[in-house]
Amino acid sequence: MPPERPQRCNQIWFDPILRDRAAQFPSVSLRYRSRFDDFAEDGDGVIGDYTDLASGASRRLRASWLIACCGGRSLVRDRLGIAMDGDPVQGYPVDIFFRAERLWDRHDKGKAALYYLVGPTGQWGTLTELDGLTFEITTRYQRATNALQFACWSYGALPRVDGSPPS
Ligand SMILES: Cc1cc2nc3c(=O)[nH]c(=O)nc-3n(C[C@H](O)[C@H](O)[C@H](O)COP(=O)(O)OP(=O)(O)OC[C@H]3O[C@@H](n4cnc5c(N)ncnc54)[C@H](O)[C@@H]3O)c2cc1C
Repeated sequence: MPPERPQRCNQIWFDPILRDRAAQFPSVSLRYRSRFDDFAEDGDGVIGDYTDLASGASRRLRASWLIACCGGRSLVRDRLGIAMDGDPVQGYPVDIFFRAERLWDRHDKGKAALYYLVGPTGQWGTLTELDGLTFEITTRYQRATNALQFACWSYGALPRVDGSPPS
């Protein structure tokens, strides 16, 4: 067992590490702001079409292999006729990051890695301690419009009379 206990490494910190490592390989080109549109298979491999969202231009790539890692709403899975059980959208999360020194001194719940935020209508979010100074509040909605309302509320643009978050 290493002396270090398990640590959280949020995606916004971890992705740049992965990105920088991937960029070191001459065989890798990273194309952000691109939408994969379609693909076709021929005897030599795969042809993929995508849109460069910055310019709106359609582009084409040829590759030996196509690996789909496009989540629950996978276009590749659809095109291959592979069915999926359940809802492809787990919810619409909103994350708020803030820094606070010794936050645990300002409430009576003690030190913890994860707190459940409970209001009059039940649990509405979690508060995660990331590194002792940075905290993350996560809440998840079933509808994108409710997530947007919550984002407005948390930035003070949508005040609530009783101070509770939108449900
Ligand atoms: C609020 C929340 C909390 C979670 N917490 C945990 C947790 O604590 N532990 C855990 O193990 N799991 C957790 N999960 C589940 C976990 O996030 C998912 O299982 C995981 O992200 C799935 O990874 P994926 O790579 O298959 O798909 P995704 O993470 O969905 O990635 C798919 C990517 O493909 C991109 N994409 C899709 N279609 C296209 C296209 N046509 N063109 C270009 N790009 C496209 C999408 O934009 C996306 O970036 C959580 C999920 C949510 C919503």
